[in-house]
Amino acid sequence: MSIDTITASNHEVTKAIGLTTTKAVHYQMTPTQLAEATINRNEGVLNDTGALVINTGAFTGRSPKDKFIVKDEITTNSVHWNEFNLPFEQEHFDQLKEKMLAYLSDKEIWVRDGYVCADSNYRLNIRVINENPWSNLFAYNMFLRPNESELKDFATEWHIIQAPNFKADPSIDGTRQSNFAVVSFSQKTILIGGTGYTGEMKKGIFTILNYILPQEKNVLSMHCSANMGDDGDTAIFFGLSGTGKTTLSADPKRHLIGDDEHGWTNDTVFNFEGGCYAKTIDLSEEKEPEIFHAIRAGALVENVTFFEGTKKIDFSSKAITENTRVSYPLSYISNALEPSIGKTPKNIFFLTADAYGILPPISKLSPGQAMYQFISGYTAKVAGTEAGVVEPKSTFSACFGAPFLPLHPGKYAEMLGEKMKMHSVNVWMINTGWSGGPYGVGHRMKLQYTRAMITAALEGKLDNVAFEAHPVFGMMMPVECTDVPSDILNPRNTWEDKNEYDKKAKELGAQFIKNFEKYATGVNSEILNAAPKI
Ligand code: ATP
Ligand code: MN
Repeated sequence: MSIDTITASNHEVTKAIGLTTTKAVHYQMTPTQLAEATINRNEGVLNDTGALVINTGAFTGRSPKDKFIVKDEITTNSVHWNEFNLPFEQEHFDQLKEKMLAYLSDKEIWVRDGYVCADSNYRLNIRVINENPWSNLFAYNMFLRPNESELKDFATEWHIIQAPNFKADPSIDGTRQSNFAVVSFSQKTILIGGTGYTGEMKKGIFTILNYILPQEKNVLSMHCSANMGDDGDTAIFFGLSGTGKTTLSADPKRHLIGDDEHGWTNDTVFNFEGGCYAKTIDLSEEKEPEIFHAIRAGALVENVTFFEGTKKIDFSSKAITENTRVSYPLSYISNALEPSIGKTPKNIFFLTADAYGILPPISKLSPGQAMYQFISGYTAKVAGTEAGVVEPKSTFSACFGAPFLPLHPGKYAEMLGEKMKMHSVNVWMINTGWSGGPYGVGHRMKLQYTRAMITAALEGKLDNVAFEAHPVFGMMMPVECTDVPSDILNPRNTWEDKNEYDKKAKELGAQFIKNFEKYATGVNSEILNAAPKI
């Protein structure tokens, strides 16, 4: 019997975690089997291209306020306790785990062995235990998939126990509400309950890698996408949610390394994951062909709706959420690199979706500016307030990923700074957000232009053009760029009211300065001098 077909009677795989169930344990099911099981349980349907479409339930996004780390002898003095790293008591963890195991003890469960870190030096084996088959398909798509011989003597290091329908009782379980994601480093276990949002699993594992790799392995872990040209030139793209990591890394002319989580060693950049988790809102075949065609058998599509009477996905619909998503294995992108290990980056891009329309669509950063921007981690979303009023709202998230960083941001910034110096990497800032005015007045930068600017930077076409400094932020803006109209390169030109632009640029600069106050004492003058001038 092959490992793949071990089914119902096999309870061995949950023993280590102390789980026994009176029902079937479905171990290492194929994507087809998981889709069938999902359909049989009335938890999903296939769309017209054969992808599995499900609803994640009440939660259609992560819940950062419900993410905890057990405060124990390992973490007490090493974790940077803050709004994203919330402490959880050991006793509460033990109790919650017992309750989850009891809850699952009369249910069918789906178990998957996988691993993270494409570079075998850093490989971490994970066993995922799910209450339903589609969550297990997510684990199949997103984590790396061991082959049969690797499964024979698979030594699990970390466990994820995930049960969307299990609800905690905040009054006795130490949670904030009924949903939770709790990480225990001493038990090497992540408990996820009360939420079906699959992204909690991948970002849970990302969190532990952000703890382990920089501290124990001298590897910089990064919230970024990565791709590589034919000649090995590697580019990485940092950015907060919605800024374009997944979209821009899927470039038909380059090899995809990964879309969200990577490690930078002394000489490589490697993907942590085995798949992509792309946004599908307003997805079109014309603008994003690679992602569009990844929506097929094996892919898992979340929280979309169909055109009435059909199984055709209406990508424009926000009926359930704006955060509609699809997960698929890396190989669904036509030119993905496997194993996904690239070389030392030649170019780093910081992506921001500036809804104020202030930052230039492409600019080059000095080393000091690069560190200043990395520590700031800026983007601006469009926030709806009272009826009809939508205005930009800035987010500053250190290292473009504060919610996933258990250590002090200074640790990651310091490592990036050293690497940038050692390899003299080009650092670019890309505004994938607004041009011609803020949200409501201007419009989002055309994807076609953003792609052209990135291509120009990668192909060295900006090496010999003239640059001008941004008056407030100081970064250098090229005055021309292949396949991009010159008049959009300096954002001030795109605003009808230049005085208004100058005023708003200073206001945004002031927000940067205010946000940076908490880091000011810990950084050198080169970085401090890169602050906006207002
Ligand atoms: P997450 O961390 O949540 O996965 P992400 O950084 O990967 O976020 P993407 O999934 O790439 O973000 O989302 C970028 C979205 O913005 C896509 O829906 C894309 O179609 C849209 N978009 C519109 N204009 C642009 C542009 N100029 N550049 C990049 N993306 C754009
Ligand atoms: Mn992404």
